[in-house]
Amino acid sequence: MPHLETLCVQGGYQPANGEPRQLPIIQSTTFRYESGQEMALLFNLEKSGYFYSRLQNPTCDNVAAKIAQLEGGTAAMLTGSGQAANFLAVFNICPAGGHMICTSEIYGGTYNLFAHTMKNMGIETTFVPAACSDEELQAAFRPNTKLVFGETLSNPSLAVLDIERFAAAAHRNGVPLMVDNTFATPVNCRPFEWGADIVTHSTTKYMDGHGATLGGVVVDSGKFDWTAQAGKFPGLTTPDATYHGLVYAERFGMGGAYITKMVAQLMRDLGCVQSPVSAYILNLGLESLHLRMARHCENATRIAEFLKDHPKTSYVRYPSLSGDAQHALARKYLPHGSCGVVSFGVAGGREAAEKFMGNLKRCIIATHVSDARTCVLHPASTTHRQMTDAELAAAGIRPDFIRLSVGIEDARDLLDDLAQAFDAL
Ligand code: PLP
Repeated sequence: MPHLETLCVQGGYQPANGEPRQLPIIQSTTFRYESGQEMALLFNLEKSGYFYSRLQNPTCDNVAAKIAQLEGGTAAMLTGSGQAANFLAVFNICPAGGHMICTSEIYGGTYNLFAHTMKNMGIETTFVPAACSDEELQAAFRPNTKLVFGETLSNPSLAVLDIERFAAAAHRNGVPLMVDNTFATPVNCRPFEWGADIVTHSTTKYMDGHGATLGGVVVDSGKFDWTAQAGKFPGLTTPDATYHGLVYAERFGMGGAYITKMVAQLMRDLGCVQSPVSAYILNLGLESLHLRMARHCENATRIAEFLKDHPKTSYVRYPSLSGDAQHALARKYLPHGSCGVVSFGVAGGREAAEKFMGNLKRCIIATHVSDARTCVLHPASTTHRQMTDAELAAAGIRPDFIRLSVGIEDARDLLDDLAQAFDAL
């Protein structure tokens, strides 16, 4: 297998003789066949091929294949958003009546999905702190637990998941570990190498990297033996009546069963696909992912060091910074850099932070993160502005908390902007 940098540029689509060099956008809902029998074989999953883009589309499949290669997995499926990816990844093996364990430090949208929406669908989640003891983690397992879930680098608290420890606990209890690798990307961490079984991404973030297109992806490592836990995962190990009694784990093996079931059942029924045009744009982003991630990390490290020494900051969080509470885990799992997101507090609390935000000129106020352009958010005055300081504390958000998503501009211009914003306080 070529190196990761080469896969970013050349992975996935492989043109045959005389075919377009750039990934073609197959903007077609349907595909033509000469006989009904040929199409019937596709409908029965007896032959692979395309018939309707709600299930599969060649442009999307080529981009999914590239991401599977980047993560070192066996199969992948693109989705319309990161939310859809996390939902499908879980629901594929955890239907109503199931239970999952999830770290508390996760993206707020994922928290809402698991704690509320999926609860309403009959799926229970137990949240445990990423830093919980082995005993606390073990105590969270139930007979109906189907998976453990965490984020490599959590949004926005930047907690680093101890992937090996969580994978060992999951496997001891006969279930897979699922990791949302959005912030780290495979450039900085490949969770399968540490024992994770399924990886998800919001490709909306660094993978696209240009704030251009929403998307998500689910990748299977192909290493989890579903048949060894047949009783826990009947969806994969017993006949699917909607495909004439086909058993996914038998027909497609460990490398293909999980993603094939997700495409054949969940995409067929729920239809949260990524469009071919979005997949094309995502692929352009992937071609420079390795270069951008290195620059994001270089810039963020310089800025974190500047903020750490600045008299008008109350604290700085950046896992790659020596002295950070997450530094030991970051050195293990993210030795080449973590990501571009730095969080810090402005001394003086909510009002000072709000004024600081207003003083910024080049760092753009936006709810987005992980973009080529530096963007910044002060939750207390924007997304969480209705909350009192006490309510913010209960939600784990300090009133002075600023999330800075450092882009790939020249760091000197970003440092100048931050310095003048502090000076004008
Ligand atoms: N996972 C993480 C870690 C995220 O940060 C986000 C969004 O910010 C999502 C999932 C959801 O992705 P999307 O916005 O593409 O639906």
